[in-house]
Amino acid sequence: MHMRISDLGEFGLIDRIGKSATRNAKKAPVGIGDDAAALLLSPSSTLLATTDMLIEGVHFDLRTTDLYSLGWKAAAVNVSDIAAMGGVPRFCLTSIGMPPSLTVEDIMEFYRGVTTCLKKFGAMLVGGDTCASPKNFVISVTMLGESERKRMITRSGALPGDLIYVTGTLGDSAAGLELLTAGSRLQAPGAKRLIEKHLRPVPRVAEGRKLALSGLASAMIDVSDGLSSDLGHICEQSGVGAEVFADRIPLSKELRSVSSLGRPVLAYALSGGEDYELLFTSPVEREMEIMSLRLRATVIGAITRTRGMRLVTEQGESHSLAPGGYDHFRSRQRRGSVR
Ligand code: ADP
Ligand code: MG
Repeated sequence: MHMRISDLGEFGLIDRIGKSATRNAKKAPVGIGDDAAALLLSPSSTLLATTDMLIEGVHFDLRTTDLYSLGWKAAAVNVSDIAAMGGVPRFCLTSIGMPPSLTVEDIMEFYRGVTTCLKKFGAMLVGGDTCASPKNFVISVTMLGESERKRMITRSGALPGDLIYVTGTLGDSAAGLELLTAGSRLQAPGAKRLIEKHLRPVPRVAEGRKLALSGLASAMIDVSDGLSSDLGHICEQSGVGAEVFADRIPLSKELRSVSSLGRPVLAYALSGGEDYELLFTSPVEREMEIMSLRLRATVIGAITRTRGMRLVTEQGESHSLAPGGYDHFRSRQRRGSVR
């Protein structure tokens, strides 16, 4: 009997791969299943390692992104996974499969984006691989970072009663993408900022570091797939549930002011993805200390003992919240659905 990958989904497949791999918690305190693996280098420090692929036609479209932005984003999404562990990004390797349509200037522009982003976050390019691709531009970026063993923040430490925080605002990137593909609506006020957030996300490295060094966060993830999916990962791996208050979810004034969007504003925040903000949990009694870190973080809800996620509306109605972010293999992309 052959099972289709679409029946299992991306996360089910990763789960299976993880179960088939050898595990050694002494050598790799964090293996498959978090934002980055944490590999023990010395009793006190870990090497953080993460890799992400970007494929033309899946993750980006050269008609809607310039190559500088693409390079920036390829680096930024990986830096973000190091930030999500509370680590410091250090070294980067980039592998590219280039279609014949790309010129030397295109590739150098792509690398200007990569290195500008790396430099901004204190990392450097140290290697990679270069080959030809018959049709699509394929990019694979690996980031290495470091963190103190005792300070790194995983997805699995959330406890019932912890508050749930998110930095910045959510939904901007997904709205930006929609505006980009719509083309003619580019003139909408605020559209430029939303598009920028989609094309050149800014990973929250300083925020992640502050949280790690303060020891205040119990769990953390970066919002790459959408709030409902990424909070779902924290819940699953911590063995808890969550209650999110719809009216607390931080939305930018740009997102709220764009009237030409196809879905309700909240849908972008719940399932949009690619915001690369940090989503973290922390004990309720540490709220003042979190605020004093000045992370521009908002409390959006609380962790519950009861499994499953709930979304509480402004009117006080509680709905079940299903993970609705992007899954590479599900035949239809599930929206951050509220039932
Ligand atoms: P993120 O969105 O933070 O980049 P992913 O959802 O891509 O995380 O991956 C989740 C976890 O699964 C990570 O620990 C990643 O390293 C691991 N993973 C994903 N694909 C594979 C694979 N093919 N083989 C081994 N590990 C994988
Ligand atoms: Mg991540």
